[in-house]
Amino acid sequence: MTKQEVSIFWFRRDLRLEDNVALYNALQSDQPVIPLFIFDTDILNSLPKNDARVGFIHESLSKINIKLNAIGSSILIKKGATTEVWGSLFQEFTISKVFFNKDYEPYAINRDLAISALAKANNTLCFSFKDQVIFEEKEITKSDGLPYTIYTPYKNKWLEKYKSIAPLVEYDTESYFSNFQKNNFDFPTLQQIGFEESNIKVQPHNLTQISNYHETRDFPAIDSTSYLSPHLRFGTVSIRKLVNWAVRKNDVFLSELIWREFFMQILFSFPKVVTHNFKSAYDGIQWRNNEEDFKRWCTGTTGYPMVDAGMRQLNATGYMHNRVRMVVASFLCKHLLINWQWGEAYFAEKLLDYDLSANVGNWQWAAGTGCDAAPYFRVFNPDIQLKKFDEKAIYIRKWIPEFDFGYGQPMIEHAFARDRAVATYKAGILK
Ligand code: FAD
Repeated sequence: MTKQEVSIFWFRRDLRLEDNVALYNALQSDQPVIPLFIFDTDILNSLPKNDARVGFIHESLSKINIKLNAIGSSILIKKGATTEVWGSLFQEFTISKVFFNKDYEPYAINRDLAISALAKANNTLCFSFKDQVIFEEKEITKSDGLPYTIYTPYKNKWLEKYKSIAPLVEYDTESYFSNFQKNNFDFPTLQQIGFEESNIKVQPHNLTQISNYHETRDFPAIDSTSYLSPHLRFGTVSIRKLVNWAVRKNDVFLSELIWREFFMQILFSFPKVVTHNFKSAYDGIQWRNNEEDFKRWCTGTTGYPMVDAGMRQLNATGYMHNRVRMVVASFLCKHLLINWQWGEAYFAEKLLDYDLSANVGNWQWAAGTGCDAAPYFRVFNPDIQLKKFDEKAIYIRKWIPEFDFGYGQPMIEHAFARDRAVATYKAGILK
């Protein structure tokens, strides 16, 4: 007997059933749709067993699976190297079409090219869609067709283009849920995938304070930002829904969502930024890269309360407020003269919202090596930042309980560090 032909919808960083472009298109296809997720061992093998992001993915998939169970369907979960998994899927099922949403990171682009080639070899059609961003790849370019490398003109073009298509279409997948295949795949526990629960958890997003975002966002003690970042990273929230909402709420908040897309298009157009300075003129900077200094930064024991509170928040929760991220990043690159790539790697290990484009983009911004970056001679004074943004030391006390009992000496004097940074950058920047 010939096997039933199916379509496969492959979940990746779009872990939701609603307003999901590739899923919507899959459900319009003629075959019953099997939803799939692959725990990719090429990524998992480099992570600790209690990585909180894997737990979050598992939890998000479990929520999706419960909804699917209610309509007689279920999600197919696989674990392995993606090409091997797909190789066996082509044996196991008669797959006529594969649907997925695009991912713009270099690893994902190569992976998807390999899977598309494999599909072709198996006479299967592959369809990919834009879902993660409003404007992708080269949709927003300068008049000469080149990518923007400065944020403000990019943002203006983005807004102009958005206005011409607003409000964005939201995809009504639910009307087509009956096209999911009726099935009953086993849903593995986190332990069966080889991971353990972490005591660090992704917080629910919170949009209740967004109307005052422009006034409160820089104050870590107020804690008024949206906590959307891990949700946008893993796609548990739809960017189209969010932008349609944000546009009516707060321009400054919308600008932050545009920064996200700005850095995504930078990564897409200049993938070298992952491992190289965007501005190659900065390649001559003689970083000190002192291991002991790095350890003090990682453990939040630099003696600068704003830096230490931020690093302790990161280590304890997988999150750090944006203002504090800017301060700790500047401190690492400029006060300690440690290559931004060390800080980027540490954040990548710890952040629940770790996203290659935003992390690299912001680290290079802080180091001064990026496009549209902070000027090299701008060296944040962590104590002035503290006075400006946490005057009553409320945030500091939360993360440094010993703060009031004679906090330690700064590991390096600010004026000395600032002068050394400026001199080192000046000497290193190629004319
Ligand atoms: P909100 O202030 O509520 O902002 C809403 C959304 O806008 C965020 O969720 C995010 O998607 C986007 N956004 C806000 N600021 C930025 C920004 N500067 N660049 C890009 N997108 C932005 N953000 C990440 O998502 N992943 C990272 O790996 C990451 N690494 C960073 C590293 C450094 C050194 C710095 C300075 C910033 C980094 N950011 C990163 C940006 C920013 O700090 C976080 O997006 C923000 O703090 C997340 O909290 P929120 O969702 O409450 O933000």
